[in-house]
Amino acid sequence: MPFSDTVPAVATPPAATDEELNPFVIAQRQCDNAARYLPTLEPGLFEFLKRPDKLITVEFPVPTSSGEVRNFVGYRCVHNRVRGPGKGGIRYHPDVTADEVRALASWMTWKCAVVDIPYGGAKGGVICDPAKLSDEDLVHITRRYTAELGDNIGPYTDIPAPDVNTDAHIMAIVYDTYEMMHKGQNNLGVVTGKPVHIGGSLGRHEATSRGGLCVTRRVLELGLLEGVESLEGLTVAIQGFGNVGGIAATLFHEAGAKIVAVSDSRGGIRRPEGLDPAEVHAHKRKTGSVVDMAGSRNCTNEEVLETECDILIPAALENQLRGDNAARVQARLVVELANGPTTPEADAVFRSRGTPVVPDILANAGGVTVSYFEWVQNNKNEQWEEEEVNARLERVMRRATDGVLDKQREVNGSLEALTATRRELGRSGHALEAVDLRTAAFVVAVGRVARVCLDRGIWP
Ligand code: NAD
Repeated sequence: MPFSDTVPAVATPPAATDEELNPFVIAQRQCDNAARYLPTLEPGLFEFLKRPDKLITVEFPVPTSSGEVRNFVGYRCVHNRVRGPGKGGIRYHPDVTADEVRALASWMTWKCAVVDIPYGGAKGGVICDPAKLSDEDLVHITRRYTAELGDNIGPYTDIPAPDVNTDAHIMAIVYDTYEMMHKGQNNLGVVTGKPVHIGGSLGRHEATSRGGLCVTRRVLELGLLEGVESLEGLTVAIQGFGNVGGIAATLFHEAGAKIVAVSDSRGGIRRPEGLDPAEVHAHKRKTGSVVDMAGSRNCTNEEVLETECDILIPAALENQLRGDNAARVQARLVVELANGPTTPEADAVFRSRGTPVVPDILANAGGVTVSYFEWVQNNKNEQWEEEEVNARLERVMRRATDGVLDKQREVNGSLEALTATRRELGRSGHALEAVDLRTAAFVVAVGRVARVCLDRGIWP
């Protein structure tokens, strides 16, 4: 059997722009910005909160169905465990990098804090291209990756979940591998997003998108878009028709919105009169992509982002809305179901135009919330009804949304006092400017994690 090294030396180059697109640098900038509004936060403590606790790199060979033994690199990062075990998905993608995993892990810490569930933040990834691997290869990669992580994951230490290109089946393999290594105890809680017949929670598959729907409805009820109180009749464009974006299309459509454009990695389709998500799902199941669907017009991914619509939902990958294209976005509201889709330069454009961006650490937190419900059910050997899961999810998402909007109002109502406190403490004397929803969410999250850290005390 020949050996070939499939580890790319560098990740795919970013889009042609001068902007900083390293997700970890961006995640740190978002944190730094929030810290300006927490003037009494001790700088040393803040430095600790910003940095990941650990990053594990594993390298392993897998005999693949092509007949070659190929070598793979995987990562698992625990950003912070102050509020509970690490929690975060596993991503299979050719562009996975250590810094992307660090960024995604840190966003998980802040996300769990925003929705106030007792987890810290973690994330994992394997550099591989699932489109070029068989299902059997992916099972072997998953088993070996899980075995290499060993006791770095566990039901009370670090709990993986699905992310880009991983699903319930892959989670079943993670569970089975861990179970083989730890027989004689209830290991169901080692991973969430499992199939329902193997300890998965009803409602988990839809939870990220359903949570995004709850948040969107709530911000509209609270008057975020002038003159709009509900989703009825609003037009929506969705980038990324995968787990999250595909289900979001169905749920937003059921809630009365019109889905006017969707895309996947092969391109997009548009229909100003509205697409039927069930038809798009059926076409994608048959052909592998949304493109070329009868009754719609093919378009580019950029055109989907720039489509005339009320709500734009990025649900694919990081850095899709940047300084070089944000001004062309016509949506009145951006709801981030992907992690990290908007760069700080794009945020500045949206702020200056008065386009609210509901940030990832709030908008897509429904997934980890129901993952937490799954873990509670696993630990109690229970199975909750789907209605109960959805009702609990809705309560959590509405409360978190209210918390972020309240914080935005509170911070923006005390800018002078916060600036004065900063000056008294000898921090930069620049007058603080009004915060957007992302910074408000970070202020909530960093404040919560810092408080637990201070109350627990720093060991020893
Ligand atoms: P997925 O692999 O099921 O879907 C990703 C989709 O994006 C695919 O349809 C893919 O073709 C498409 N895509 C990739 N590049 C694209 C591009 N340049 N333009 C348009 N489409 C593109 O993954 P997913 O689980 O749906 O995750 C999507 C996003 O949501 C990620 O950012 C992920 O981190 C985030 N997220 C996922 C969950 C979850 O529960 N799965 C939870 C929270 C956040």
